Amino acid sequence: MSAKIIDGKQVAVDIRAELKSEVAKLAEKGIVPGLGVILVGEDPASKSYVSAKERACGEIGIFSDDHRLPVETKQEELLALVERMNKDPKINGILVQLPLPKHIDESAVLLAIDPDKDVDGFHPMNVGKMVVGEKAFLPCTPHGVIQLLKRSGVNTCGKHVVVVGRSNIVGKPVANMLIQKQEGGNATVTLCHTRTKDLGYHTRQADIIIAASGCPNTVTADMVKEGAVVIDVGVNRVEDATRERGYRLVGDVDFEAVKEKASLITPVPGGVGPMTITMLLYNTVESAKRANGID
Ligand code: NAP
Repeated sequence: MSAKIIDGKQVAVDIRAELKSEVAKLAEKGIVPGLGVILVGEDPASKSYVSAKERACGEIGIFSDDHRLPVETKQEELLALVERMNKDPKINGILVQLPLPKHIDESAVLLAIDPDKDVDGFHPMNVGKMVVGEKAFLPCTPHGVIQLLKRSGVNTCGKHVVVVGRSNIVGKPVANMLIQKQEGGNATVTLCHTRTKDLGYHTRQADIIIAASGCPNTVTADMVKEGAVVIDVGVNRVEDATRERGYRLVGDVDFEAVKEKASLITPVPGGVGPMTITMLLYNTVESAKRANGID
């Protein structure tokens, strides 16, 4: 059996179209969602990521207030800018692109963001709310994974999901979302990491595997049950002399072999990747609605 490919680009296009029409409805009420974007330094990957976010905002009608700061920016200056954005009613979401230069305390900056504008969902207040099942801004990549499953018709209720990776930005939050007593949750979750004994023993029992290890080929075909759903969050560069840029992107799953066993699988690129920015747009629109008393 060859798996059906989950087209993350198309799902992202669909959600962005829904958001665009919501933004148009808000505009009729005189509401324009605003995202404050802060980039410190010249990291090329961060620059291209921030540009993609700004473009995506423009495409659906979100106003983006962009601040590109020099690498030598002092922590106090950055905190002062965050504070200005916290107070600015035109800004509904604040995004500080990570990583920050080494002289800046990343967690101090993330803590300074008003939790009501924390559209990345990294503030401990939002993390805590998510864990106890209260309404919160959900972190974008794991929320994107949940949406991909939902929109591909995968019901997680009663399923055994094995998550590979326990980072704060992917593994832990996605596992938490999946155990919530609500639609898109109700799964039985096993969370694996580098200290897990015999990863394959666990993954072979999974109805759904979510790979977020950051290592190519962490999940190979012998580790996958026939008919399992496989979501690959990983983005890894591997050398490839046939490409002009000298590398290609692969996930954490041995895609070619695993797709012969899985029932559904996400590709890399074009799977989870396009969902991350989309869920950031979603959170920004949600924030604008909440700020204006619209639920
Ligand atoms: P991370 O912080 O490096 O965490 C990786 C996790 O995987 C750790 O918990 C680690 O275990 C575990 N791990 C690593 N190798 C393993 C192995 N062989 N077996 C079992 N567990 C293993 O990475 P991350 O930030 O969560 O990101 C994960 C991947 O997703 C990366 O490739 C990243 O580029 C990608 N990503 C993609 C998006 C997107 O938009 N598509 C967004 C975010 C991240 P320990 O805790 O024991 O070290």
